Amino acid sequence: MNEHDTERIAGLLEADGMTEASSMDDADVVVLNTCCIRENADNKLYGQLGNLKQMKADRPDMQIAVAGCLAQKDRDLIREKAGHVDVVFGTHNVHRAAELLQVARAEGPIVEILEATARDDAEAFPSALPARRDSDHAAWVTIQIGCDNSCAFCIVPAVRGPEMSRSFDELVAEVAELARDGITEVTLLGQNVNSYGRDLAIAARQAGDDVRLRPMFAELLRAVGAVDGIRRVRYTSPHPKDMKGDVALAMAETDAVCEHLHLPLQSGSDRVLSLMHRGYTAERYLRVLAEARATIPDLAVTTDIIVGFPGETEDDFERTLEVAAEAQFDSAYTFVFSPRPGTEAADMVDDFVDPAAVVNRYERLRVVIERSARAKHHARIGRRERAVVEGVSKRDAAMTTARTRQNKLVHFAGGEGLKPGSYVDVDVTEASMNYLLGELVDVVATPRRRRRIPVVAS
Ligand code: SF4
Repeated sequence: MNEHDTERIAGLLEADGMTEASSMDDADVVVLNTCCIRENADNKLYGQLGNLKQMKADRPDMQIAVAGCLAQKDRDLIREKAGHVDVVFGTHNVHRAAELLQVARAEGPIVEILEATARDDAEAFPSALPARRDSDHAAWVTIQIGCDNSCAFCIVPAVRGPEMSRSFDELVAEVAELARDGITEVTLLGQNVNSYGRDLAIAARQAGDDVRLRPMFAELLRAVGAVDGIRRVRYTSPHPKDMKGDVALAMAETDAVCEHLHLPLQSGSDRVLSLMHRGYTAERYLRVLAEARATIPDLAVTTDIIVGFPGETEDDFERTLEVAAEAQFDSAYTFVFSPRPGTEAADMVDDFVDPAAVVNRYERLRVVIERSARAKHHARIGRRERAVVEGVSKRDAAMTTARTRQNKLVHFAGGEGLKPGSYVDVDVTEASMNYLLGELVDVVATPRRRRRIPVVAS
């Protein structure tokens, strides 16, 4: 979400007449887009601002802006600690980036933090703004902002506000526009995508419409997947407590939707899940997973797991190991718990787990995850995979890297000259824990020329 915001800020500045600088030394404007979900976000920010201080002293016309969720959270503190910052803006007014820089140029430093996004402010949805994308064939589409949950470790609800879905028709129209622009793969973004549309139904009811109160994510998947030119649809992230059978069915029945589900587990202990306020049990998680696998053939499953959440006992952790072993994940992002200031978990200081025990647990979990990841990758050997080219392999310039529908990287030789965004068939010959090796069989499609859409800042 944060990276997508960055694309939008860059797009807005471009629409305002700026061009990308080759380095910070050449830049007239530097925007630091912060994300306080990352560890040490504040240290990194103030470190960068320290580096920029001398630059600004040498070139007083240079403008420095700080955006994102740390700006949302720390607002005045940033100006207090770093007086050379010109603009501070938050997550709800990304669309004002260019305007705020102009105001600061004329009137001096400005801090503008909005507490919420207005429902009727279509511009406030990142996807409604111009973007400067890194990729010509893949795009993110924000379907929802904010979150109505209250996971004890998470700062998102505090900095991104309550859940708000974007209009169904606007989303489908945006994806159709992207497809006309040469985009073939979209990733739908939201904090809790399964509940997409619930707030729209509530708003429609309040306005007097006779609509059923239900999420519309399954319909959205089907509609986006049916857009002419869209070959792949991905999404992140679903919430296990809201994942229903209709979404799995839509995934199975919509050819464009990839066979990959990222379903955050966080812990395998019901006690810890309850402390985290996750709203499901390990048994329910495994049931949801089993149903999804039964509905969607050849489904890859990845997850997030936090090790050492405050109060996690050895017994709790054993449950996590058991659930991870049973779930047989294709891969997992495993995190050592670290407190994010402003969250409930950050205040559970008395229950913080001994760091040595956490390191030990993390290592044991790694072994379990790697075992299933290796097995899942090995199971691909001998299969023909449809993959989309990402570019020259970072590990070996003689190889080309592509991504399969299951979101696995596959490297192959003989792809010289293939443009990113080309669709290829590859026979998988070898597998390691993190990637596949294969032989190029066929080029199925090459990227269409991208139609440039001129963007105009309002
Ligand atoms: S569902 Fe939980 S972890 Fe995800 S954004 Fe909302 S509060 Fe954070």
